Amino acid sequence: MPGNMFDDKGRLNIPEVKRNEKKTVKAEVVINAIYCPEGHNLISVDHEVSGFPGITVKFNGRKSGSGLLSLSAVFGDTSYKVIEGDPDPHEPLDFSCPHCGTALDVLASCPCDPDAVTVMCYLYPKKDPHQAIAFCNLLSCPNSAVIRSGEAIRLLSESR
Ligand SMILES: [Zn+2]
Ligand SMILES: [Zn+2]
Repeated sequence: MPGNMFDDKGRLNIPEVKRNEKKTVKAEVVINAIYCPEGHNLISVDHEVSGFPGITVKFNGRKSGSGLLSLSAVFGDTSYKVIEGDPDPHEPLDFSCPHCGTALDVLASCPCDPDAVTVMCYLYPKKDPHQAIAFCNLLSCPNSAVIRSGEAIRLLSESR
């Protein structure tokens, strides 16, 4: 028996459901580990975005220069936080691992800009494009939110 139907005062024991009621339809899925092509974890507990440790990457752009930023690890959330530098949200940026400098792998081009691409981070240290997340390298793009790589492929083929 998983618990009594009545509590010790004889009241009907109703499981706590408040948390579910409060939750919006969009379930929050948060990534707690994500890896560069060389297997370094990019989630940084030092840099929270939207209340969770963010995906911290180096950026580099012709106009933006270089620096460090943290992207929200919450699926579908386009929030980000600049740690160093001043990235132009309308310029496609080169993202790389802050530990080893390896550029993140490119999944596909993004329709938002001729030079924009979606880049991948891996869910496991061993790189597998089917076990990955993807996001656009243009910070102002709605696709800059983290999504599963499979969804990115579908999304991009639909928008063609
Ligand atoms: Zn690395
Ligand atoms: Zn884009």
